[in-house]
Amino acid sequence: MDRTLRSGPFVGYRVYRVWHKAEGRWYAQLVKSETDRTTLQWARLMMSQRLGRRLGPNETVDHQDNNKTNDRHSNLQIMPRAENSSKGRAREPMTELQCACCGKIFMRATRDVRFRLCRGQQTFRCSKACAGWLGAGGTTGVVAGLISRMKQGSIPLARNP
Ligand SMILES: [Zn+2]
Repeated sequence: MDRTLRSGPFVGYRVYRVWHKAEGRWYAQLVKSETDRTTLQWARLMMSQRLGRRLGPNETVDHQDNNKTNDRHSNLQIMPRAENSSKGRAREPMTELQCACCGKIFMRATRDVRFRLCRGQQTFRCSKACAGWLGAGGTTGVVAGLISRMKQGSIPLARNP
């Protein structure tokens, strides 16, 4: 079987399917010559072939069934990067935090909050703008409550991966 692409943005490239163990998904290795080669997620190759163009850095290919190994066309949809990551986040438990700078209440993935608390972070900021603020650095009420609940054991400490 000839595995050279005959159409689309990668025309002329030979395609090799490579299993990326750490990510648990298929990649495409595209080779035209010794120096002209590239690697991309199999799902991105599928989408590029469907659209007839390369994808931009802010376009991601979403697996509708959340199964990264299911690269069938019917399972793939293109979406802006931010939307895709918020879909991933939506399945995670979230924790409400109060910004140590502006006082705004905002949400962070509980996993991320635990990790940071375990590393000794005492305050959280809602945005990059607020993160630039160098204040007294005191523990906000919300975070103080979290730390005391963690010490009491009602919130499990993050385990080492
Ligand atoms: Zn803020």
